[in-house]
Amino acid sequence: MPAIIDGKKISQDVRDEIREKTLRLKGERGIVPGLAVILVGDDPASQIYVRGKKNACREVGFLSKEFRLPSDTSETKLLDIIDGLNRDHEIHGFLVQLPVPEHIRTDAIIEAIDPRKDVDGFHPYNVGKLFSGNPYHRACTPAGIMELLDRYEIEIKGKEAVIVGRSNIVGKPLIMMLLERHATVTVCHTRTKDLPKVTRRAEILVAAAGKPEMIRGDMIRDGAVVIDVGINRLDTGKLVGDVAFADACERASYITPVPGGVGPMTIAMLLRNTLDAASIQDK
Ligand code: NAD
Repeated sequence: MPAIIDGKKISQDVRDEIREKTLRLKGERGIVPGLAVILVGDDPASQIYVRGKKNACREVGFLSKEFRLPSDTSETKLLDIIDGLNRDHEIHGFLVQLPVPEHIRTDAIIEAIDPRKDVDGFHPYNVGKLFSGNPYHRACTPAGIMELLDRYEIEIKGKEAVIVGRSNIVGKPLIMMLLERHATVTVCHTRTKDLPKVTRRAEILVAAAGKPEMIRGDMIRDGAVVIDVGINRLDTGKLVGDVAFADACERASYITPVPGGVGPMTIAMLLRNTLDAASIQDK
């Protein structure tokens, strides 16, 4: 049986540390970190994420602001709100919950956010900083994966890492984070030929494809560290990852469960980026 990586516990540890640092920041410099979230439309999953972020802010002692806008909100109106938040001294970080409705250009929205306040780490400035080896705000989900590997003292240097999925929010930033730590990184996607042959090379295998249980046991190298980013709801209502968990347990040395693995780390890293933003902006 592999060691189960407990993302829920690590996320709580990180939040406890952030709560302490927030208290100190308040006491020593009078700064209260502020995070704002903008939600356009009424996508149920987005509503759950936004509620989670608000609760997490309250738990660690941050100021939180929320903007709930109707789905027919114009891009201009949204850009106005972003402009206001860029100038708002109480708010050190903010994000627009994605996806936004189709009539709004996601790129235009992300690029309008002041990179210092882009705590999702999606602005091209922050992406560029990461790719040039001098990261500022890092994308939260891949940063959460790195945090899990570090807290479990899993060696990264020199390891063969394979990522399945090349999205802008998970796969691509994770390439750089693993590379920065001296892993040999391979990225797979829908056009990869003979996926099992590539995944079987992985000493660290990250599944971020959004395809329920697509990584079977025979695609995993013996002793691999298996990180499952996928969150997929089956017709039965059951939540599963991209990895066939029971199968993978026959091979892996470490594995993240779904739920309770990578998922809880994303908000923890968002809080950390916001705390960092508050410490730097108010210097
Ligand atoms: P995405 O759809 O933007 O990207 C998926 C990537 O996987 C693409 O690059 C695609 O080429 C690749 N892919 C898809 N099917 C494949 C296949 N059969 N073989 C090889 N490659 C394949 O998805 P995303 O936004 O990166 O999210 C991926 C998964 O991670 C989803 O299940 C999502 O819900 C989950 N997710 C979880 C968190 C979290 O835990 N906090 C955050 C973000 C995403």
